[in-house]
Amino acid sequence: MPLMLSRPTRLKWNQQGRVRDRHTVDWNSYPLSRSILTLFFLTIDVVKSLFEGSLSSVLLCEECGTKRKRTEEFLNVSLSLSEEVARRQSFPGDTKSGDLSVETCLERFVLPEKLGDPVDCPNCRKKTPTQKQHTFGTLPKVLCLHLKRFDAAQNKKIDDYVSFPARGLNMGKYLAQWCEVSRLRSTMGDESLDTEPHINYDLFGTVNHVGNMSSGHYVTNVKVGSKWYKINDAHVTLAGGDGGEETVVKDAGAYILFYARR
Ligand SMILES: [Zn+2]
Repeated sequence: MPLMLSRPTRLKWNQQGRVRDRHTVDWNSYPLSRSILTLFFLTIDVVKSLFEGSLSSVLLCEECGTKRKRTEEFLNVSLSLSEEVARRQSFPGDTKSGDLSVETCLERFVLPEKLGDPVDCPNCRKKTPTQKQHTFGTLPKVLCLHLKRFDAAQNKKIDDYVSFPARGLNMGKYLAQWCEVSRLRSTMGDESLDTEPHINYDLFGTVNHVGNMSSGHYVTNVKVGSKWYKINDAHVTLAGGDGGEETVVKDAGAYILFYARR
């Protein structure tokens, strides 16, 4: 599930310092509290201005085509690995599948799925077969992708290598106007758009996990200028030769990826 944050409600405290009202604060009486809360709000504003995007959630009635949409904000996007890994294990000879990649996970993320049970349609006024789909509504300046390596249902960590591009991750094709499902189209894609939209992102940081479900260690790779650095606790080293990019994208255990919009 996407990580959600909403702006905190301002607090009003009485003379004993207790919350009296949920809507205002007597700032002048509590300068320290004011400073702390102002810093808190500023931090949230900075985080939201960088990381916040929105997802469009659509329910599509397969009988009449009525869509019901809902928008929800995200600060990061969690991509499932378990279904793709299971599918590959079931069809090991399927060479068309290519690498298990971030792009594969994103394509699966925006894929419409038919719900198991019929859902009430306000237009048909009955329960009808329904598809559900998530697509991207708006894209953030900094895209944070979380690879779900910890499979709680099976109590195991997914150690499979997941490839990801260092440059030019195109998020445009996952926008609603390009890939939103329609009853009238058997395949996704808006024919009114001549070419696939390109909104490119470049990698500038990763968090990698080494270990298993019960114990492990996190290491980060960060790009500064044209060079990549590996940060392991207090130890900072060059990630590899020739800038380290090749080493970083081949590094095992990528868990969180940070991309900056061009
Ligand atoms: Zn309907």
